Amino acid sequence: MTLAAGDRRHGTAGGYRSGCRCTACRAANAAAQHDYARLRSMLVPCPGCGGFKHFAAAQCRACYDRDRIAVCGTETGYTQHGCRCRLCREASAAARRARRQRSAPEPVS
Ligand SMILES: [Zn+2]
Ligand SMILES: [Zn+2]
Ligand SMILES: [Zn+2]
Repeated sequence: MTLAAGDRRHGTAGGYRSGCRCTACRAANAAAQHDYARLRSMLVPCPGCGGFKHFAAAQCRACYDRDRIAVCGTETGYTQHGCRCRLCREASAAARRARRQRSAPEPVS
C-alpha cells in the first residue's frame, strides 16, 4: 500500500513502515537506520524548486547558486553567506562606512 499524496507521514520512517516507498520515505528510513551510505546516494525533493537534491544538502545546487547570486552585492552576502566576491566586499565596506558615519559624534560648531 502507499500513502496518499498529502499524508503527513511522507518523509518519515513511519511512512516507510506504513508501506510507502517514495523517495522521501525511503530516505527517512535510511536516516533512521543510520544507513548513510544509502542516504548519500539518494535524491529527495528540493524545497526551493521541486527538483531533486541530495538528502544531506539543504537545497539543490541550482537553488544554492540562485540564492548566492541573489545576495551578491549586499552586506548580507558578505556577512551571512560568507561570499567574498568583489560585489559583496564592496557592499560590506560601504555598509561599515555608513554605520561609522552615523555613529560618529556630530561636529560641534
Ligand atoms: Zn512516502
Ligand atoms: Zn532546488
Ligand atoms: Zn558575492
